[in-house]
Amino acid sequence: MIQTVSILGVTGSIGQSTLKILQQHPDQYQLYAASAYSRMAELVDVIRNFSPKVVVVPQHQADHLQSLLKQSGLAVPEILTDEAGLIAISSANEVDVVMAAIVGAAGLLPTLAAVKAGKRVLLANKESLVMSGDIMMQAARDSGALLLPVDSEHNAIFQCLPQDYLSLEPSQGQPQKGVSQILLTASGGPFRQFNASELAKVTPEQACKHPNWSMGQKISVDSATLMNKGLELIEACHLFGLAEHFVTVVVHPQSIIHSMVQYVDGSTLAQLGNPDMCTPIAHALAWPTRLSTHVPALDVFAHAQLDFEQPDTEKFPCLNLARQAFRVGGTMPTILNAANEIAVEAFLKRQIGFTQIPQVVDATMQASLHSSADTLEQILQADHDARVVARQYLVN
Ligand code: NDP
Ligand code: MG
Repeated sequence: MIQTVSILGVTGSIGQSTLKILQQHPDQYQLYAASAYSRMAELVDVIRNFSPKVVVVPQHQADHLQSLLKQSGLAVPEILTDEAGLIAISSANEVDVVMAAIVGAAGLLPTLAAVKAGKRVLLANKESLVMSGDIMMQAARDSGALLLPVDSEHNAIFQCLPQDYLSLEPSQGQPQKGVSQILLTASGGPFRQFNASELAKVTPEQACKHPNWSMGQKISVDSATLMNKGLELIEACHLFGLAEHFVTVVVHPQSIIHSMVQYVDGSTLAQLGNPDMCTPIAHALAWPTRLSTHVPALDVFAHAQLDFEQPDTEKFPCLNLARQAFRVGGTMPTILNAANEIAVEAFLKRQIGFTQIPQVVDATMQASLHSSADTLEQILQADHDARVVARQYLVN
């Protein structure tokens, strides 16, 4: 049976990698729907090559898309708009698989809609889980949705855990089935060896040039500040039901080992591979079976040296801010995430320097009132309020 797929964020880095896999396996997967936000010409290419039945764009882009399609002589798919459109293609009966690859908090409601509708949800949009962790995990248990990690580290951890681990009831933050510790690997980003004064001068162009991965701008900056690892720490705790002290961050500059799981008998299992997101995407699409990809097998002789270091949390404070946010709980991870989104956007617009990103996040966390995160309303309110607070700190 052909599986139908909705891709939220088809014009992004993960969206495009997902299309590569679909193109390789047209007998197994078909694009049903796709969303884009600003890149309409790229969306037209997707429509040309994959003929989705439905596309979703912001209301203000709909006319522009229509005219581009008219010019190119392509059949016009159904065009839905805004959040309601995203929720519709996440939960439609016609859809089997949802790739959640919108960046940032904008992905929360559509991702949650896919989980509530019981889909196979390929989770790239880590911010949505950081914000709504308990609600999303409970929704997956209630609906029977398969929430499968695409983030390379979490996908690696998932591959190294016992097969049924994701379906276990959480055990008060304790690892289960003989697992003792998760080793979450980090490349360390492009500025791992910079000193404090060099860090203060880095530009958005430098920050967006990751040594091992090609990614969207926001996650590239997050990788450079180590906030990406902080968000991933929270993501891992929710996905695998763990207290944060069971997740150790290990800097591994080569990005060949994508993470590891340690067991009580002294075993450490690792997943290795060339750094290409097509591998975890293919894994999550086909699990528990396997799909071929164009990613070459790892040449272990060419990667004879693998290094491991402790993260430098003085130079890169975001990691500890995220740990702290998870420990506090409730809406604090939402506040951390919202402040980070505002700070990264301001850095990309050259309104603040690189080292001000953690300062804005820290100040916002300290100035914000947090609450429990039992309802979506509490989470959305905290997200909104933290953005207002964070903007007040965007001064040089
Ligand atoms: P990109 O910036 O490349 O793509 C983001 C996508 O989201 C684009 O399709 C963009 O549309 C769309 N989008 C942006 N803003 C909005 C909005 N407000 N509403 C609706 N859609 C929006 O990001 P990536 O593909 O790199 O990352 C996507 C997610 O996956 C992130 O959460 C990231 O953390 C995660 N991830 C990414 C990895 C990677 O290797 N890239 C690895 C692991 C996780 P448009 O382009 O048309 O404006
Ligand atoms: Mg990752």
